[in-house]
Amino acid sequence: MNGYFDHNATTPLHPAAREAWLLASEKHWHNPSSLYRDAGLASQQLESARERLGTLIGAEAERIVFTSGATESNNALLASLPSDQLVAVSAIEHPSVQETARGRNRLELPVNANGVVEPDAVKALIETKRPTLVSVMAANNESGALQPWREIAALCREQGVLFHTDAAQWIGKLEAASLSECDFITGSSHKFGGPKGCGFLVLPTEDSRLHFIRGGPQENGRRAGTENYPAIEAMVTALETLTPSLAKIGHEQTRLRDDFIAAMRSRFENLRVISESAPSLWNTVLMVMPSHDNLKWLTRLSRRGFSISTGSACSSGKEGSSVVVTALGANADELKRVVRISGGWETTKEDWQALATAFGDVSEELNRGGRPQ
Ligand code: PMP
Repeated sequence: MNGYFDHNATTPLHPAAREAWLLASEKHWHNPSSLYRDAGLASQQLESARERLGTLIGAEAERIVFTSGATESNNALLASLPSDQLVAVSAIEHPSVQETARGRNRLELPVNANGVVEPDAVKALIETKRPTLVSVMAANNESGALQPWREIAALCREQGVLFHTDAAQWIGKLEAASLSECDFITGSSHKFGGPKGCGFLVLPTEDSRLHFIRGGPQENGRRAGTENYPAIEAMVTALETLTPSLAKIGHEQTRLRDDFIAAMRSRFENLRVISESAPSLWNTVLMVMPSHDNLKWLTRLSRRGFSISTGSACSSGKEGSSVVVTALGANADELKRVVRISGGWETTKEDWQALATAFGDVSEELNRGGRPQ
């Protein structure tokens, strides 16, 4: 039984990514900026990985800057905007977008009762306030709700406003080739079986002003520092390996996830599933439990071999309260009962059902007021 249900926090290294990392580290460990033949080969491999990633996400290779992950990509973009320019960010963005935007001239895009940003709200805001940049994530990390980024990207283009999507949770779970309709795209390797500390930011073709880190010519002068070619190779290999089967996996996993929700509903009256009627990632369920604090659920499930989370794992580097449930106007008591379940590509029907059974067992234990077994 595999009880790991926190794939939105991070994923195990894909075996193909591990192989790719080992090979790249053994054969092409040289500094891609050095001038001898072996370094040239490493540089060629790096550029080939960029091309391959470009094909997977539908973007020209020149638009891709490799970074240390989605947090860096989001910070780099938002911090690069002059502080007097208006940025519109949704109320459910990851803290790496929210907090970087907070120091600037920020407008907040609200979400509807399903936790989804409505294109009409974006349109109204663009027409009245004319922000420089709109940032709406592709899929929410807590609720899994898919955001209408395609419509919003088209709208922004029509209005001459730049559009950024943080696609950290979308890439590797859903087909990504049309993401290039967005001006800026954020991606993160460890969300889809690649190594941690690796990711990318896609820029609009013409954008050359953005400098993330200074002090070297790497990444076209935009991000200095020796490139982590083995991690980049492993990230691209993970995505290449997963991409052909995503449609099938999504179809099958949605059914398993929905059966889990049904099993939970039959055990728990008054279970609230957030964003239930919105299209969502096939692996994610965000729930407000009818009773008991989420940490009690989390620790007792953990003792039974299940790993879940309490919403956003990212606030202040520890489990924080849910950004999404807060944006939906929940009270403090509800916020304490939020749990997030996120399965993976290989989670089985038995795993999902065993989790539902474990929730039932923990509930009995908590209702008895008894001590954990
Ligand atoms: N954006 C989103 C939507 C995320 O889910 C995460 C990871 N929780 C991040 C950004 C940060 O990613 P990284 O760990 O690569 O910095």
